[in-house]
Amino acid sequence: MYNPAGVKTSPSFPIPDQMRAWILGDPDQLTLGEKPVPVPKKAEVLVRVDAVAICATDLEVIHYGSPAKIQGGLPFNKGWTPGHEYMGTVVALGPGVDEFAIGDRITVEIHAGCGQCKRCRQGMYTSCLNYGLNYGDVDKGHRANGFTTDGGFAEYAINNINTMIRVPDHMSDEEATLVVTAGTSMYGLTELGGLVAGESVVVIGPGPIGLLAVGVAKALGASPVVLTGTRDNRLEIGRQLGADHVINVRNADSAEIVRGLTKGIGADYVVECAGTKEAIDQANRMVNRGGKICLAAFPHDPVVVDVANLVRNNVYLYGIRGEGKSATHRAMAFMASRRFDATVIHTHTFALDDLPTALRYARDRVEDAIKVVVKARYGAEAREAAE
Ligand SMILES: [Zn+2]
Ligand SMILES: [Zn+2]
Repeated sequence: MYNPAGVKTSPSFPIPDQMRAWILGDPDQLTLGEKPVPVPKKAEVLVRVDAVAICATDLEVIHYGSPAKIQGGLPFNKGWTPGHEYMGTVVALGPGVDEFAIGDRITVEIHAGCGQCKRCRQGMYTSCLNYGLNYGDVDKGHRANGFTTDGGFAEYAINNINTMIRVPDHMSDEEATLVVTAGTSMYGLTELGGLVAGESVVVIGPGPIGLLAVGVAKALGASPVVLTGTRDNRLEIGRQLGADHVINVRNADSAEIVRGLTKGIGADYVVECAGTKEAIDQANRMVNRGGKICLAAFPHDPVVVDVANLVRNNVYLYGIRGEGKSATHRAMAFMASRRFDATVIHTHTFALDDLPTALRYARDRVEDAIKVVVKARYGAEAREAAE
């Protein structure tokens, strides 16, 4: 039985020595195997993973490797487990931890950072200067779950206490997995200006981050909030999340329409979540003089940008990575008080054992999948409900 020295456990949550975990071999080769249940160190807890959402970045790292970084390189054939958008229950406490109790229901953000570099000290722990340095002689204690350390496609995972947020009782497991996505949208808006009440915001690209950016911008008081995209059904979900206007860019010049909606001057803030050349062009054309563009999606190839337009118009361009500056806590505050309904982007749930199917649904958008969640005890839960 699991009983490491210095670690607090409870008979209410018995922990096995071994756990089931998905392990990445070659690109796109995931196998379900067994691993020892990991042991929390100082300022860490062991989390029983109850639900984990699939993110486009999971598909990215499983296929390309980057931006995951394990032992200084690509994550293939290193016994590594991906998955970063998870929630669960605290089941063991590392030495000295009293900030959380065994049995607490929590959701997690990804990056703990190293806590000692300049960026971490500024709260920019998603841009930690010691990214991926958590092994051997260069162990700076950096953690980004599912990127530089083992992630949540497993029964248990380690988390630093700084990456955990309590989940209110009324919130479902599935909804709680979406907090980190909303936190990323929140971080983008925080970096753009933070106080966006009364400012015009355009979100380009109705993927999960774009859709929740609509909900967050609206909750922050932005007006108007405009969403652009190519799929009417996704734009309709954007309306449910509070978009004042939606524009299908297939049938219209979105920059022209945005100017029409903003007395001819363009938008104060543009959050670009599509990651295509066209979308970045549109952002450049629809932002107003002195306005700000947040780049929240990463294109695969280099993109040519009309820099002259940026310079002539004093446009600010921000790249954001992940969910820094405790943005996830602010996103949770909105979700806990139901300022927007993130559950509209959750479309499918599978058992953890069915991860390959779940990944296929997410990748190929089977049945219009947006956020697909896997649950380790999905079958057991259904059986309990039937009994
Ligand atoms: Zn993600
Ligand atoms: Zn750091």
